[in-house]
Amino acid sequence: MVNFPFFQFWAPAALLAALAAPPAAAAASAGAAEVCRLIGGKLSSVSVAECLDRGLVESGVRTSGGLALLYKEYPPLGARKPNARVLLIGGTHGDEYASFSVVFKWMEILDRHHSGLFHWRIAPAVNPDGLLESPAVRPNGGGADLNRNLASRDWNEKALHYWRNHAGGDRRRYPGPRAESESETRWLAGEIRSFRPDVIVSVHAPYGVVDYDGPAGIAPPAGLGPLPFLDLPTFPGSLGRYAGEDLGIPVLTIELASSRRMPSDGDLRTIWVDLVRWLRLNIRARG
Ligand SMILES: [Zn+2]
Repeated sequence: MVNFPFFQFWAPAALLAALAAPPAAAAASAGAAEVCRLIGGKLSSVSVAECLDRGLVESGVRTSGGLALLYKEYPPLGARKPNARVLLIGGTHGDEYASFSVVFKWMEILDRHHSGLFHWRIAPAVNPDGLLESPAVRPNGGGADLNRNLASRDWNEKALHYWRNHAGGDRRRYPGPRAESESETRWLAGEIRSFRPDVIVSVHAPYGVVDYDGPAGIAPPAGLGPLPFLDLPTFPGSLGRYAGEDLGIPVLTIELASSRRMPSDGDLRTIWVDLVRWLRLNIRARG
């Protein structure tokens, strides 16, 4: 028998009221509701209500503009063997509107049909600050290209040099003052360390192809829906170089055909179906 202390537990009225309130999970957290209000107001293909319906939660990390970075977890269901972990991100570049919206649409599919085959962690809006600029811009609130800011092994030696001498000092591709100078990048690197994805899928636009970086033993998809495979280069500080080449994690970059125009419903569906098929055939849990 468990003996509780003899004294009577005393709770102030405010604490009792808080305990009687509905659980916090029943409503979006303040940070998530705020981000949904803003990005739902900006994206023509995703309404505030649709964003709220996805049930995104705060990561605990905020952008330099003060917005919460949001994600959602779709855990594996009832499996005995470990399921491959998939990190899916959208909206790394703020002016690639469709790269946010498409991930929201795929989350809608998963909300209805998550089979539990994979363990997904999904962040549809890695760069909300860039999206919310008028007009939207590629870099984040700190003026850095988040796809040049990751701590690839060659960052210190090459990132700024490459930017000045090969990217013409284009502000849209500024890698930041140092590797992982940006909170969004530190969040992503932290996710890669803690979630330990077996594959990372990152959605961009507008090149209309699918690209692969990572272990040579994995066959890239011949294409996803209407998007053919094309081997694009990686860059100092890019996700392909950092996660794919340095860490040996398969990275699939989906380049939608347009930054502003959504794929047709049919294309949205076939890209998704082909993606899931490729994952099923090629990605194994590392345990
Ligand atoms: Zn991009």
